[in-house]
Amino acid sequence: MKTIAQIAAELQGYDPQALSAADVNAFLQRLVEPVTATEELPLFDALGRVLARDVVSPLSVPPHDNSAMDGYAFAGAQLVAGQPLSLRVVGTALAGKAWVGAVAAGECVKIMTGAIMPTGLDTVVPQEFTKAAADGHITIAADVLKAGDNRRFKGEDLMEGGLALAQGTLLSPAALGLVASLGLPTVTVFRRLRVAYFSTGDEILSLGEPPREGAVYDSNRYTVFGLLTRLGVEVIDLGVVRDEPALLEVAFRNAAQRADAIITSGGVSVGEADHTRTMMKKLGDVAFWRIAMRPGRPMAVGSIAATENQEKMASSAYPSSVNSYQNNSKQSHGGAVLFGLPGNPVAVMVTFLAFVRPALLRMMGSTHTAPPLARATSTEALRKKPGRTEYQRGTITTAADGTLQVCTTGNQGSGVLSSMVQANGLIVLHHGQGNVAVGDTVDVMVFDGVI
Ligand code: AMP
Ligand code: MG
Repeated sequence: MKTIAQIAAELQGYDPQALSAADVNAFLQRLVEPVTATEELPLFDALGRVLARDVVSPLSVPPHDNSAMDGYAFAGAQLVAGQPLSLRVVGTALAGKAWVGAVAAGECVKIMTGAIMPTGLDTVVPQEFTKAAADGHITIAADVLKAGDNRRFKGEDLMEGGLALAQGTLLSPAALGLVASLGLPTVTVFRRLRVAYFSTGDEILSLGEPPREGAVYDSNRYTVFGLLTRLGVEVIDLGVVRDEPALLEVAFRNAAQRADAIITSGGVSVGEADHTRTMMKKLGDVAFWRIAMRPGRPMAVGSIAATENQEKMASSAYPSSVNSYQNNSKQSHGGAVLFGLPGNPVAVMVTFLAFVRPALLRMMGSTHTAPPLARATSTEALRKKPGRTEYQRGTITTAADGTLQVCTTGNQGSGVLSSMVQANGLIVLHHGQGNVAVGDTVDVMVFDGVI
């Protein structure tokens, strides 16, 4: 892992007090590294995991030219424009039971969807375009199809020896199906990332504690838990940590030993009276940033050292059945990456989605780390100052013409979690962007599949 100073030297004009959202992501993509340990998993256990090796197709899918329709296979060269064609039916090809034999001119074979195309035939006429006669002939109406229609080619989906899925692919339901279609029962994936998190602040109450004046219940651990779980990482919950150096040190050390990454919330803004920043500095290589964004702004990033002679890989969270597990993670002895998020509940979610999630995806081995943005028409005028990135909570709907439109959910205060619940996405107003007028197109980050 590179040090903060090394990365700062690599990036032009790096100013920790005035970073753009793009600067933050550029920095984080240099700071974090993919895990290296891999394991082989049965397909049913591999959903959401990241491929550690290319999947090369051991066979062609489909394995033969075959019919895309129930109908009659014949040689398409016999079709003449403007004329019907009469053919004698000489046999039947079923899916899974090929028809063997030569088919002469003027002949055809009744064929089912998926059945292998008989040798020499290239066209299938769907049943509904034909008329059957009593003498074993069918007639194809004029101009209902072209030569080559309704024939699927061997290897149309995947060719033997071809790349089916690249390393770094996050395994979706479709990807699992594709691997299965190759007859492969297992895949080699990167080991699961382990992420520890805790909340800091003396005013933060754990659930179960009685309410107290000036104190608020800890919501950040629950949103962070949810965001991490959706991402498919192993979570390590370290609770609420009070603002005492000894407790903070234990929490950071414990987290750095057991996890690849640590997420904290609270205590990173300038002028905080608490010990969180001091402890981050003491135990690690940490930068304290002011980001040109809203909500968010303060964030601490870097690494926290693990105590020596601790074997993180012995984590009891690892089932002994994972016998192909290799202890070669780069982060296994060097501590953990730190993401010190601000305390405000909405700021936690926004900084997670904008910065932490892409960084964690890279650590998971994924090659697609940036959240996909869609375009939507704003039904509302939005005030926006150029020179910072704003993430507004939005309700995205589909207009009558099928395009996306978006409006804000109202109160955009950085502590207002109810607006985050109401929202189904974030309106992303980029660094250089100014005010948005009604009818302008804006970028939106849709929550579906992410949150
Ligand atoms: P801080 O970044 O520590 O200055 O916190 C900013 C605001 O977020 C304060 O109003 C805190 O009370 C609130 N806050 C901090 N941590 C949490 C938490 N875990 N759950 C809910 N609110 C929090
Ligand atoms: Mg605080």
